[in-house]
Amino acid sequence: MENCIFCKIVKEEIPATKLYEDSEALAFLDINPINIGHTLVIPKKHFKNILETPEDIMAHMMKIVKKVSHGLEALKPDGINIKMNNKEAAGQDVFHSHIHIMPRYKGDGFEPWHSKTKYKEGQKEEIAKKIISAL
Ligand code: 5GP
Ligand code: ZN
Repeated sequence: MENCIFCKIVKEEIPATKLYEDSEALAFLDINPINIGHTLVIPKKHFKNILETPEDIMAHMMKIVKKVSHGLEALKPDGINIKMNNKEAAGQDVFHSHIHIMPRYKGDGFEPWHSKTKYKEGQKEEIAKKIISAL
């Protein structure tokens, strides 16, 4: 897609530090990392987000996430976060589907995002029904 920074990386119109590449996908270092080694895995074809990316391509991206996560062990992180931002409200800035692999270190200052809200009585079951019916 024209004017997409990640499509330009795929076409080698702009440089990137590649870690892994095959016919479907590419892994490269994030230019503005949360920690050294922060990597992005993208499909070579342009899809906006998880909702648009075909299931087989998502599955393939996750295989690469797993592979690169093992590679990142060479940096001896204390942990690794896998994150995908989908749509602007979720913090997506580049609208070409991508998965973040983020090496984490004890005390590196990133906040967990759990426990920001609570379910009311009976709400879990109601919400689960709604989601399951849309699967
Ligand atoms: P998002 O917020 O969309 O999930 O993440 C986009 C990521 O792409 C950011 O972490 C940002 O640092 C990274 N990024 C943006 N432009 C470039 C670029 O030109 N090269 C590389 N390697 N990473 C980029
Ligand atoms: Zn693109």
